[in-house]
Amino acid sequence: MFSRRLFLAASGAALWLPAAARAQSDKYHFTLGVASGAPRETSVILWTRLAPDPLNGGGMADGLVHVRYRVCSDAAMRKELRSGLVATSHVKGHSVHARIDGLEPGREYFYQFYYGQDESPIGRTKTADRNAREARLAVANCQAWETGYYAGYRDMAEWTPDAVIHVGDYIYEGGVSPLGKVDRPYGGVRLQYEVVRQHNSEEITTLRDYRNRYALYRSDPHLQAAHAAAPWIVAMDDHEVDNNWAGMVPQDPDKQTSAEFALRRRAAFQAYYEHMPIELPPSMMELGGELQMYGAYRFGPAHINLLDTRQYRSDQVCGDGFPGEPPCDDLLNPDLTMTGKVQEAWLMEQLKKSDARYNVLAQQTWFAPYDYVDDPENNKRNLDQWDGYPVQRQRIIDALAQDVSNPVILSGDWHCAAAMMVHKDPDNPASAPVARNFAATSISSICSWHGRIEQARDANPHVKYANGRDRGYLRCIAGERDWTTVFRTVANAASPDSAVNTATEIALKDM
Ligand code: FE
Ligand code: CA
Repeated sequence: MFSRRLFLAASGAALWLPAAARAQSDKYHFTLGVASGAPRETSVILWTRLAPDPLNGGGMADGLVHVRYRVCSDAAMRKELRSGLVATSHVKGHSVHARIDGLEPGREYFYQFYYGQDESPIGRTKTADRNAREARLAVANCQAWETGYYAGYRDMAEWTPDAVIHVGDYIYEGGVSPLGKVDRPYGGVRLQYEVVRQHNSEEITTLRDYRNRYALYRSDPHLQAAHAAAPWIVAMDDHEVDNNWAGMVPQDPDKQTSAEFALRRRAAFQAYYEHMPIELPPSMMELGGELQMYGAYRFGPAHINLLDTRQYRSDQVCGDGFPGEPPCDDLLNPDLTMTGKVQEAWLMEQLKKSDARYNVLAQQTWFAPYDYVDDPENNKRNLDQWDGYPVQRQRIIDALAQDVSNPVILSGDWHCAAAMMVHKDPDNPASAPVARNFAATSISSICSWHGRIEQARDANPHVKYANGRDRGYLRCIAGERDWTTVFRTVANAASPDSAVNTATEIALKDM
């Protein structure tokens, strides 16, 4: 049986290793830590990347190398269950994806990689189990490097969930900001935060740039700890490629041609794959690449439908700027889609055949509506979110209302924690409640617009809780009797040692 004490001791020792090894020589290869993901009942993906010079392209010579791994039942790595060799090369940035099959459901496993004289940190992972009585799932997103440390990830690693769901903005593509405190009025409040560390280049566009940016983010010890503590299931949002991109359309089509954006998207997909414990590499047969991110996972009473709402999305109509856009007639085009037709049909099928107590849509943006101006004739909305795709949203709400058991929608993107009811007519809070939408706040990205959210609360009675001032993540406990969402918040985002506390807990029955 897994002992948290033992694991923390083991991971603490392992996390100490990279820094110590680096002090002796620059050739330590596991500078980016380890990770696991795509947990199934009998399989999991183990990840690492050889990167002796992580911020400068990785530092490995071109060519094929082999990395050894071991999987054990104990954190001390004595009871070996499996070992093997995985080949990798410069073609995939010397990243390693080892698929381990033949495992048992609902079991903890420990793993480690070996290359030359180097040993990686030890990771802990866990297989899924549809028969588990309870599921403990962390939800994270939006971890801008510059505006905060990752105390939330330290806290998440200590919790050791069954799985971590990351719904995007794992990196940000932008350039370098000046260090120091920011304190200025915005949206009716004082906006206060601190740029505590800096990006390693100007805005990124090439594969080398994206690799170096992932390496920068993954150098953080608390992010490494969260990856080493539990399997992750991941789907990107916009900043892994370009702010507010949609399908093959970039944020600023006047500044990059469609060919340039297609190449950039390919590079971004490739680097994302190289740094994530996911099952399949991108297909480069497609213009711009194609990367399988959406998929279904089952943890005890929770059936998780992880969605990809960027890659197959139609471009935002009526603009995607913020603060807010007034609605325009084009919004009612039924062909507008967040997911594309194939993924929508897949989701409908998943909902229809699920026998789970909780049916979860884990995806990027807010699903529930939000009006930023209390004026029924001219309500302003964020049209990069589901408010910009109301016809498809209604199709999904109608499906959830059919007889889907306890629909729960998880969101990120907006850097603001929230608990929101989704009604049959989402704009009419008097209509029947259909689903709960819990949004995680950001790990470290700033919610500059939290004053505007607060000012508009009265116009949004379906919103039971909203907090854009604090950084943090969600702990979701899908239990036999109820689902509870715990809103964890970081006391001081400018300190990696910050306390992390529970702001509030909301169960489905409370809403
Ligand atoms: Fe974000
Ligand atoms: Ca986003």
